[in-house]
Amino acid sequence: MSELSRRGVFLDEIGLGPLWLRRDGGLPEAEPIDADATPQQAFAPAIEIPVAESPVEAEAVVQAQSVPLNNAAVSAWGDDDAPVTSPVTTTTVLPAAMDWRQLQKAVAGCTACGLCRGRKNTVFGVGDNKAKWLFIGEGPGRNEDIQGEPFVGPAGKLLDNILLAMGLKRGENAYIANIVKCRPTDGTGRDRPPAADEVAACLPYLQRQIELIQPTILVALGKTAALSLLGLDPATPVSKLRGTVHRYADRPLVVTYHPAYLLRQLADKGKVWSDLCLAMSTYANVDR
Ligand code: SF4
Repeated sequence: MSELSRRGVFLDEIGLGPLWLRRDGGLPEAEPIDADATPQQAFAPAIEIPVAESPVEAEAVVQAQSVPLNNAAVSAWGDDDAPVTSPVTTTTVLPAAMDWRQLQKAVAGCTACGLCRGRKNTVFGVGDNKAKWLFIGEGPGRNEDIQGEPFVGPAGKLLDNILLAMGLKRGENAYIANIVKCRPTDGTGRDRPPAADEVAACLPYLQRQIELIQPTILVALGKTAALSLLGLDPATPVSKLRGTVHRYADRPLVVTYHPAYLLRQLADKGKVWSDLCLAMSTYANVDR
C-alpha cells in the first residue's frame, strides 16, 4: 500500500477523513511546522508549563491494620477492667514505594494541592497495568471529573479511534493517564492547564505508575504532558518537541497533539499521523 493510501486509511479510521487530493493527484501542501511559533500558538489550550525545581513528593498515609488486644494482653498490663483498645499504627509510604492498591488509595484521598477542593472524582488512569504503550494527557476535564476516567467525551472517542488505527485498544496493551489527577478550573469553572505547583505535587503519582507499568514507549498528548515529563523550559517551542524521539526514564517518548486540540484544528491531522508513525516505528525497533 502506498504512503498516500495508508494515510487515507488512517485518517478514515480515526474519523478525520476524507483525505482531499489536488486534481493532479498529489497531496495538499503539508503545513510546515512554524519554527517561530510560540507554544501558545502551536498548541491549544495555551498554558504555562512548569518546570518543577524540586518536585514535592506527595505523601499518603496508609493506616496499618491494628491488631486487637486479647484479654491476656490486657491482664498483663495489670488492669483487667481496662477497656480493650486497639492502637492504630500509622505508616507513611511515599508514592515511589507504593503498590497499585496503595497508589489508588492515596490518589483517591489526596489533598496535596488545591485541586482537591473542586473535584468530583480523582482520575487515576485506565488501561492495561502491563501495557507497552502509555498515553499521557494534561488533566481531567469536566466529563472526566464526573466519570472518574481519563479521555471520555469527544476527545476520548477520538483517542479511542486513534488507538484502533494503531492496532491498540483502551485497556489492551495501552494505558491512559494524565499529568494531574484532579480537574483544574479557572475562576469561572472552565478547564485550565494545571499550574506549576499542581504538576509538581501530582507528578510523583504518575512517575510511580510508569515504574509499575514499565511501558515500552510513552506518547505525550499535548504540551503540558511533554514539558512536564521532559522537564524542559516552558518557552521551548513545540516545533522542537514534535518529530523527535525523546527519552523519559530511559524510555522513548514521542510528542503529538492533544486530541481535544485536534478536534478544533483538523488541519493538523497530518501532523498527528506523522507523529504516530514515528511512535510506531520507534516501538517496532525497540529491543524488548
Ligand atoms: S491533582 Fe494530584 S496532587 Fe493535587 S489533589 Fe489531585 S491527586 Fe493530589
